[in-house]
Amino acid sequence: MGDTADFDREVASVCPFCGVGCQVSLKIKDNKVKFVEGINGPANEGRLCVKGRFGFDYIHHPHRLTKPLIRRADAPAKGLNVDPGNWQQHFREATWDEALDAAANGLQAIGGKGVAGFGSAKCTNEEAYLFQKLIRQGFGHNNVDHCTRLCHASSVAALMENVGSGAVTATFNQIEHADVAIVIGANPIENHPVAATYFKQFAKRGGKLIVMDPRGQALKRHASHMLQFRPGADVSMLNAIMHVIVEEQLYDQQYIAAYTENWEAEKAHLADFSPEKMAGICGIDAETLRDVARTFAGAKAAMIFWGMGVSQHIHGTDNARCLISLALMTGQVGRPGSGLHPLRGQNNVQGASDAGMIPMFLPDYQPVGDQGVRTAFQEVWQHGEIDATKGLTVTEILDAVHDGDIRAMYILGENPAMSDPDVDHARAALAKLDHLVVQDIFITETANFADVILPASAFAEKSGTVTNTNRQVQMGRPAVPPPGDAREDWWITVELAKRLGLPWTYAHPSDVFGEMTQVMASLTNITWDRLEAQNAVTYPSLTPDDPGQPIVFADAFPRENGRARFTPASVIAPDETPDADYPMIMTTGRQLEHWHTGSMTRRSRVLDAVEPEANCSLHPSTLRRLGVEPGGMVRLTTRRGSIDIMARSDRAVAPDMVFVPFAYVEAAANILTNPAIDPYGKIPEFKFAAVRVEKAQSE
Ligand code: SF4
Repeated sequence: MGDTADFDREVASVCPFCGVGCQVSLKIKDNKVKFVEGINGPANEGRLCVKGRFGFDYIHHPHRLTKPLIRRADAPAKGLNVDPGNWQQHFREATWDEALDAAANGLQAIGGKGVAGFGSAKCTNEEAYLFQKLIRQGFGHNNVDHCTRLCHASSVAALMENVGSGAVTATFNQIEHADVAIVIGANPIENHPVAATYFKQFAKRGGKLIVMDPRGQALKRHASHMLQFRPGADVSMLNAIMHVIVEEQLYDQQYIAAYTENWEAEKAHLADFSPEKMAGICGIDAETLRDVARTFAGAKAAMIFWGMGVSQHIHGTDNARCLISLALMTGQVGRPGSGLHPLRGQNNVQGASDAGMIPMFLPDYQPVGDQGVRTAFQEVWQHGEIDATKGLTVTEILDAVHDGDIRAMYILGENPAMSDPDVDHARAALAKLDHLVVQDIFITETANFADVILPASAFAEKSGTVTNTNRQVQMGRPAVPPPGDAREDWWITVELAKRLGLPWTYAHPSDVFGEMTQVMASLTNITWDRLEAQNAVTYPSLTPDDPGQPIVFADAFPRENGRARFTPASVIAPDETPDADYPMIMTTGRQLEHWHTGSMTRRSRVLDAVEPEANCSLHPSTLRRLGVEPGGMVRLTTRRGSIDIMARSDRAVAPDMVFVPFAYVEAAANILTNPAIDPYGKIPEFKFAAVRVEKAQSE
């Protein structure tokens, strides 16, 4: 914490890391961010975690891109071979005109369905809107996606199907009105730390906190129940809990009759899932399952929070369907302290999805296949036809590159060379592209493969809105200038669009936001000026003065008949199960100090000092069996590849499991992960791979 002598001005903005969306005050001196304090945003009320407080200095890192770069004609073959501090052998500096012309000409030369776009949940809403519009309008198809495909796509699929909306039904802060809460497949103390402070306060005042996760976690200390179930056994455990609620008639018949459909089918389906039968599958004893069922069904107000432990499975949509059914049968939606809340990962994954950076929906989840929807957009966009066919998703696009159907890509802020499953396959696809344009703030692993690199802006250098996990649209403001010739992302995308022949005339992100309000009903009553004045407005906002609705669906659901739906879920085994060659289970995730692929946090002095080295976590008994001391090296091998990595001793990890964070390029967890996808959300199974763990040969 500094004092007023340490800065000469301060700017209110939003933390760039997780979906909690904490509001921050950036303290500036000599055009540098000196320190950061939390301010009174609706999600954080002044609180910040270690990333928000100490993780900002990456914006002044010497690796920042300051000039547009073009690949040299005599550069070495494309590969993961560029030193971000010493790139001159691979790229040469260019002017903006030269680089934008090269980027646009290369994309246009291939054109049509030979081009695809990956945006990022790090984009602002306006950048995301422009990006999807550029791909749809400039190339005439919907092959545009972003990292929501890798985090909550299956949750959104289940919510859209059964509730009619992909966003949360209640803000996480509503937990203050709850008496029971389930947190499943999420580790909020590490991944949504400020939200976790509200969960801990809830437990402290006597709320019953039911934590369900195959891995132990710090929130366990605050839990009334900790269910450390077998990895991949979510459906059997949740169906067993719901079986008890049916068997003991603990469900809310009045709510079910008034607000839902397909209850009889759900009820019949659950008959097969007695706790006694499921205990052996999910690893939780029948009495605990019964106790949890009674506790949840007996709540006056209950919430369900979930994370990627639920969504990143080939049955991720089924997992989320179970959670929705559990809330519906107990009438726990639409009242204070009740609701369904998938904890969104990235700071703007909600907003980027709302803005249409997904291949099957135009902004506000309006289906591309609907003629009326397309006509409405075409009238506003005033140029070209929107394709009626759903586009390809992240993993499908990279497969299409391997097949030769896609030959050029525009990638904004996304890092598939680190984040995608079976990442050697993704890297080979990037190397195969005839033309790759990367817009980013560093030479990321993905930018290693670029033909043109466009230097962009960090959060503290640009204007734009972002939408957090709570549906709160918040204003981000420029506090310092971008370094060198780096420019705001919206400007770069607009300049590229002009070179592709699109009649774009935006002069500021507020112009883009204004257009968004014309095509997105969710933004009704939310204006740029209002956000400038108030910093945050929650959607839906019912009047120009309404700060927004923290709880939705009190009276009806946004489905054709106004009712939510029960969709029964059956048990589906993970795509690959342990066997003699790969006898253990690998799961991946984040750590408190490092964010996703590490491009920002590994360039943050404090965060990298706390967690400087690639590591995995194994149970002490497993380490003993392997003859490895804590801190020693192990080799992890799956059907995709091997990595050597330092092993930590962690009792929270079951003896047959290994947990691997995915932020470290030198031991990239995604070399190992399974690219098999959920059929509905098309999300890869990051949370389950069969793995062999051995003492590393170097040990
Ligand atoms: Fe930033 Fe999330 Fe931490 Fe808040 S909880 S400070 S949004 S990383």
